[in-house]
Amino acid sequence: MDYIQCPVCGNQSKLKYKLKFNIYKCHQCGLYTSDANFDLSFQSSLELDSREIGLKKLRFENFNTIVKALKVFKDDEKRTLKGLEIGSGNGWWLKVCQENGIGCIGIEPEKAHEDYHKENGLNVYYGFYPDLNIKSEQGFDFIIFNDVFEHIRDLDGLLISLKKDLNDNGLLIINIPMSDGFFYKTAQLLYKIGIKSFLERLWQFNFHSPHMNYFNQNNLELLLNKYGFLKTTNIKLKSLDFSTSKERIKADKDISKLKAMVLTAGLRVLKPVILASRSDIRVFFFKKQI
Ligand SMILES: [Zn+2]
Repeated sequence: MDYIQCPVCGNQSKLKYKLKFNIYKCHQCGLYTSDANFDLSFQSSLELDSREIGLKKLRFENFNTIVKALKVFKDDEKRTLKGLEIGSGNGWWLKVCQENGIGCIGIEPEKAHEDYHKENGLNVYYGFYPDLNIKSEQGFDFIIFNDVFEHIRDLDGLLISLKKDLNDNGLLIINIPMSDGFFYKTAQLLYKIGIKSFLERLWQFNFHSPHMNYFNQNNLELLLNKYGFLKTTNIKLKSLDFSTSKERIKADKDISKLKAMVLTAGLRVLKPVILASRSDIRVFFFKKQI
């Protein structure tokens, strides 16, 4: 197939990159869409433990940034906030909420991190949203996606459910990688000179849950506006913690020792460029319009 229909604006998306799966780009809104499948076997090539060392510090820092913004929006409400996280993974967001006195429950299809959830008293339901049908009486104050929204194929069905499950002033929070960030742009450039592995890695095509879409600020807003969500703010998050990037690269089984060394050195050289360029990860706050 050379063309598909853009899931955001309905215009034509043209075949742009051929990797393990195909990637299409919408000529109108610029959304990148893949024809990847979700592998329900949950087998992935990442080693859980070594991945955690590198990521944890960075994630906690970003989650604290989000919590701070969330508290600003909701500071008039003198009660515990009720939130829902879709795709809780290791449970780190729920942990940060717990530390900050924010009530949040999680939905997660995988049981790989069940021990951590239990040990920390995190409230996680195992299964898929919205099938699990978890409700809050008055509706949730917020629903959050941390690196999950880009993995979802049926966006229309999802957004209808989200609107139903949020309360009248509810916030939809989307923490997501950007297609106009430094890493995506670099991966595109490398593809052009025949190195496809970086783009393949960004789309997570070798993981059980690859990306379905790669958004930028404009097409994400376009999609959310269609369903009656208005953007209130968006914040740049850190995509790389230079003190632990070595561990993160090492955690990837597919990368050889030599390649890992070259990558680590390369990142050190590029650090100022990366910090000065457009951010690779942003968090968006959308308010439900009644
Ligand atoms: Zn489009």
